[in-house]
Amino acid sequence: MTSTVQLSSARRLVVKIGSALIADPETGDIRDSWLDTLIDDVGRFFARGQQVIIVTSGAVAVGSHHIGKLDRCLQIGGKHAAAAIGQVHIMRAYEQSLARRGFGVGQVLLSSEDIDDQHRHPNTKRTLRQLLQIGAVPVVNENDTTATSDICVGDNDRLAARVAQMVGANVLILLSNVDGLFTEDPHRNPLARLVTEVRCITPELEAMAAHSPARHSSGGMITKLMAAKIAMDAGCEMVIAKGTKSYPLTAIESGGPSTCFIPLTEDRDTCDASAN
Ligand code: GLU
Repeated sequence: MTSTVQLSSARRLVVKIGSALIADPETGDIRDSWLDTLIDDVGRFFARGQQVIIVTSGAVAVGSHHIGKLDRCLQIGGKHAAAAIGQVHIMRAYEQSLARRGFGVGQVLLSSEDIDDQHRHPNTKRTLRQLLQIGAVPVVNENDTTATSDICVGDNDRLAARVAQMVGANVLILLSNVDGLFTEDPHRNPLARLVTEVRCITPELEAMAAHSPARHSSGGMITKLMAAKIAMDAGCEMVIAKGTKSYPLTAIESGGPSTCFIPLTEDRDTCDASAN
């Protein structure tokens, strides 16, 4: 059974876009037609009075294509340079797509200090809220050009969850290249089932994530579960869904496959997971 995720009642949503969605994994080209359908979906949410913050990956993937190297061959300096180049390309694509629909855009590049530091945190939060108030869609990425291993969030799953926590989002959507969390790797076991609803992150669930096939994202399913913990603790629902096809948010609302992580509330304190 696939449950229909209710996105329409969320006042504020954070939508994370994985690298393999914004950029063609083979060529590194921006998937402009797909991006237009995502932005159509985002525009529909704004028309309903909802606010959307986009957290996007793709800078390193696009940039490494542009400097003619595979990202797996890049050393840390090369990754920084690739991110600097790729970020320009992805922001241009977002800006053009949003402008065609009458939206402004604000680029927000964050380091972990911008979220953790008690002086920077309020500034970051205020900027995101002001952008939303003036009708500019915040497009967030980690500031990969300056990140070092000790001051980086490291993956955009957790970055998106921290952003959702910071702005008090009701829903966090991780758009990836897999349908959600599976009981086992479905490529290896045809009997693997999609976990549709999670109310508690248990060690069993973490073991499932270790075998789950989100191979092309830097985080994979493990970091998605870490993101889910951050979101659920903040009272924010989190959805993992495949976003590769057109109109990925409409697909979720129409009952497409997904895994939904539901935070505990006072009137609902059971802790379990259900699979298809
Ligand atoms: N910040 C990285 C990029 O833009 C992506 C990190 C991730 O996908 O988790 O390339």
